[in-house]
Amino acid sequence: MAENSLSFIRQDLLSLSAYHPAPVTDNRNLVRLDANESPFNLPDEIREKLAIFYEQKIATNRYPDGSHLPLKQLMAEYLNESAHLKGEITPDFISLGSGSDELIRSILIATCLNNQGSILVFNPTFSMYGILAQTLGIPVVNINRNEVDFSIDLEKANQAINNPDSLPIKVVFVVHPNSPTANCLTPKEIEWLKSLSKDILVVIDEAYYEFSQQTLLPELLSHSNWLILRTFSKAFRLAAHRVGGAVAHSAIITILEKIRLPYNLPTFSQLATITALENRALILPSIQEVMNEQKRVYDALICNDKIKVWSSDANFIYVRLKGEVETEDYQQILDSFKEDNIFIRYTGGGFRISIGNKHENDRFLSRFNEIFGGGRC
Ligand SMILES: *Cc1c(COP(=O)(O)O)cnc(C)c1O
Repeated sequence: MAENSLSFIRQDLLSLSAYHPAPVTDNRNLVRLDANESPFNLPDEIREKLAIFYEQKIATNRYPDGSHLPLKQLMAEYLNESAHLKGEITPDFISLGSGSDELIRSILIATCLNNQGSILVFNPTFSMYGILAQTLGIPVVNINRNEVDFSIDLEKANQAINNPDSLPIKVVFVVHPNSPTANCLTPKEIEWLKSLSKDILVVIDEAYYEFSQQTLLPELLSHSNWLILRTFSKAFRLAAHRVGGAVAHSAIITILEKIRLPYNLPTFSQLATITALENRALILPSIQEVMNEQKRVYDALICNDKIKVWSSDANFIYVRLKGEVETEDYQQILDSFKEDNIFIRYTGGGFRISIGNKHENDRFLSRFNEIFGGGRC
């Protein structure tokens, strides 16, 4: 169809390139190391519980619980426990979305829509902030991270915030630890976030908290312009169910709750998340296994002189090719992995490799050695 036949569509959307998730196939031989999911399905006993719920408890003819209250209560309890708080986080501090993605969109709608402002991101970073902003016609101010350690150039960031010629920056998005580069915020960056004007919403995406064990939740209590994102898609092994949470002071949460669709979380997703939280003692120990494997893969990768590898606070590792390289070189390597049914992600000018189970990591490393040659250790 010629583009000009879509004259009713916003012009800026015609050229926008969307996020293209890979199709899910049944091929059990696939090694999926491209989406930072947990390599482990839920434990059998939890899946059996969920099957019984589906048979006996769920009325499919009824709308889901649009209050999310039982789930919010459990999540609040988990947040307090994990950040060693004494019950300060209550359900009033939480809004739940169909993945953090929905919450990111709600945040954008609440802050910047109608030419009210722009957002600031530090690349490479999670691409959904920029993509969702563009779908809403919201300008994105991009600043590149330091190429050596992926820290944020705070001077440039301040310049962007103080730029009188652009729409005011209403939201700063940071990831702790960042994806795809796997580094946590530095103490200096955290001080900077604390110093930002109350006219700016500071979004700290802690999607990988369970792996990094670093959280700014205790600091959020004294910062009314902060919002922390959490997800059940990674360490909690619930990516199929699409549940994420925003944690902020209740004045912000009230607004997000106005924006969200009334029945945004399917009944089964709520039940699965409640069950996972109640049984977190069975689910979360797998984090240690993933992090042990992360160290093993990292130790193998740093032996190779042809790539640069960064240390990681998460369940993935970021690498770049050394020397003069083109996008085509990355594409070729990506294809060589694909030929062996191994999927990793090319993003931000490097490869992001999710940590799989032991067998998957062995398959990855063995293909890696075929492509790059053995390392020096
Ligand atoms: C994976 C990921 C998420 C999770 O998104 P969901 O929509 O909750 O699945 C959020 N932020 C970052 C940075 C991520 O990498």
